[in-house]
Amino acid sequence: MTVARLFATPLRLSGFLIVLCLLIAGFAETPTAPYIIVLGIAQDAGAPQAGCRKICCRDRWNDPKQQERISCLAIVDPVSSERWMIDATPDFKTQLHTLDELAPMPNLSGIFLTHGHIGHYTGLMQLGREVIGAQAIPVFAMPRMQEFLSRNGPWEQLVRLKNITLQPMRSDSTIVLNPRLQITPLLVPHRDEYTETIGFRITGPSKSALFIPDIDKWEKWDRRIEDVIASVDVAYVDGTFYADGEIPGRNMKEIPHPFIVETMQRLATLPAGEKNKIRFIHLNHTNPALQRTGEAMPAIQKAGFHVAVENERVKL
Ligand SMILES: [Zn+2]
Ligand SMILES: [Zn+2]
Ligand SMILES: [Zn+2]
Repeated sequence: MTVARLFATPLRLSGFLIVLCLLIAGFAETPTAPYIIVLGIAQDAGAPQAGCRKICCRDRWNDPKQQERISCLAIVDPVSSERWMIDATPDFKTQLHTLDELAPMPNLSGIFLTHGHIGHYTGLMQLGREVIGAQAIPVFAMPRMQEFLSRNGPWEQLVRLKNITLQPMRSDSTIVLNPRLQITPLLVPHRDEYTETIGFRITGPSKSALFIPDIDKWEKWDRRIEDVIASVDVAYVDGTFYADGEIPGRNMKEIPHPFIVETMQRLATLPAGEKNKIRFIHLNHTNPALQRTGEAMPAIQKAGFHVAVENERVKL
């Protein structure tokens, strides 16, 4: 059919225009949707881990491509030019740089903290007068976390000098980031020595995501993980250890996490679509799923689950 014949009738022409408009709208929608970027997938210590000379880290020391940064998500809204980070890790310096490269915007609109273990808040030190000398960056924290930051140096200096401004959070109480984005803290059981521990549900105009980097066993939570997964589109969940016995000579009951094999077994009977939402994150340097070779990664994929990937984007 020639172009002339295609437009031979007003009906065909109007149909063509409608399709064209839909195509343009489709393309236009892509860059404006808010999204999540994964800025790291490792446990608090990263990989390689300090002092580790074992096989799990040996090659990582000399090969930056094999190094994994500490678990961290960013939320980006390209329309409002706003960016938030979830957790301020010891890798904050390079993670902020990556965010500046991938989503260059003038400011950081806020930081949401999950809890007071070293991999999740100590990056705040980069905001002080020794480094950025930030001006009133909102840091969202639960009550015990707020108390901890306000009363202990060097964090209280960030508060006193107004490098950061602490913003309260309550479990299950939704915070409206802007007209398109919301975030809700969810209290989870963990070894809460200094602070409580939370995960987050992040909700955008069309999709939502779950982020639970640290939790004790799923059975200790007062929610069913299956129900929480059903309520989101993608779920970044604690994959610290692959299986029991992973750290020889250490009692793993002192550092409880849901082993990846336990989570996969628990969720084995879920429909494929539900399993497909899961991305394990916060992997310890010993976790065989961090190795490029080996059986853990293929086993996870064969079972229908995923491991989070640095720089992955998920539209919200
Ligand atoms: Zn952690
Ligand atoms: Zn190691
Ligand atoms: Zn922790």
